[in-house]
Amino acid sequence: MCHLSVATPIIKPINGLCNLSCSYCYTSGLKGYSSKNRMSLETLKAVIDFFCNNQDEIEFIWHGGEPLLAGLEFYQEAVRIQQSWKKRGRKISNFLQTNATLITPEWVRFFVENDFFIGVSLDGPRKFHDQVRFYPNGRGSYDDVMRGIGLLRRGEIFNGIICGISAVNYEFPEETLNFFLGENIKKLKFARIKNIGHCDNVSGITISPAQYADFMITIFDLWLEVDDPAVEIRDIQSVVSLILGGNKRECIYMGQCDQFVTVYSDGSIYGCGSFSKTDNLYFGSVLDEPSIVRSNSRLQIFRDLLEKRRKFCRACDWYFICKGGCAKDCYEYLDSVKPLSKVCENLQRYFRHISGRIRSYNLI
Ligand code: SF4
Ligand code: SF4
Repeated sequence: MCHLSVATPIIKPINGLCNLSCSYCYTSGLKGYSSKNRMSLETLKAVIDFFCNNQDEIEFIWHGGEPLLAGLEFYQEAVRIQQSWKKRGRKISNFLQTNATLITPEWVRFFVENDFFIGVSLDGPRKFHDQVRFYPNGRGSYDDVMRGIGLLRRGEIFNGIICGISAVNYEFPEETLNFFLGENIKKLKFARIKNIGHCDNVSGITISPAQYADFMITIFDLWLEVDDPAVEIRDIQSVVSLILGGNKRECIYMGQCDQFVTVYSDGSIYGCGSFSKTDNLYFGSVLDEPSIVRSNSRLQIFRDLLEKRRKFCRACDWYFICKGGCAKDCYEYLDSVKPLSKVCENLQRYFRHISGRIRSYNLI
């Protein structure tokens, strides 16, 4: 169990602000942006100290909005503060997820020198990507993203793509995969675009669990045909590994959603960022004593909900992979522990398909 002593922080130094205005996102471009919205350097120090204080290995995940808007000097300071913890024996890694439009050779130099892993959001070829990922004036971001990826690749710090699967591309798994392979992009994650909390007006672009399962099943079959060990599709790798007795797990198959917390620019700590910023999941602040956060009653209630759900799920044949799945998928407004039947039905269909294909290869 997590006691926030082994938690992974997803840090939003400029909260949800972004230079893009993607159709499925709950942020609204740069409206209201100023450097005052950025996490202060005092809070940054408190964040790093809070999470390094009582764990030996820490992964910092820098997120947004667009995290590069926090500016280079912000990350230079972060690395400087981390250095003092490294000297005390902490093993620290930094992951940053960016839309890549603001990448410059200077950023690349910094990331290379400091061993950052950089993931990029790209929703497939231009004709899909530009329909959903654009600037506030409507101009598509595809050309700028590809330029950014080119710079990251030259620096050998490109850590793959997260491709949003939405109403514009879910019917085109083959075209989408072929595009990435044609660009020699082989580290991929396909993420279902679903409603995000208060973002009520995006239902036209989101897809259902069934549509996502259909997409992923086709991707799995194509992946088998491609038969190239360098092609890493994160979700598929987890499921295959677990079926074959391994232990490679994405967060959605960990059953430990309480281990992922989001830290906003004011230092407030909330549950995983896939939930909206709701009072139910406010666990405290990095400015508090860790022991106060650890004993936060809302954190305890959240953990109890997860545990109740795990009990419910243990009867499922696929529990050994799924562990209850993504809490965001499986809880109706966080006040029910009953899995959502449509989510389970389709997860099970996906697991059954992969397991069946693996069996047909006599691997299990
Ligand atoms: S498929 Fe559904 S019932 Fe089975 S473990 Fe996952 S969430 Fe639970
Ligand atoms: S709620 Fe979903 S996205 Fe968040 S940590 Fe849990 S599984 Fe991962």
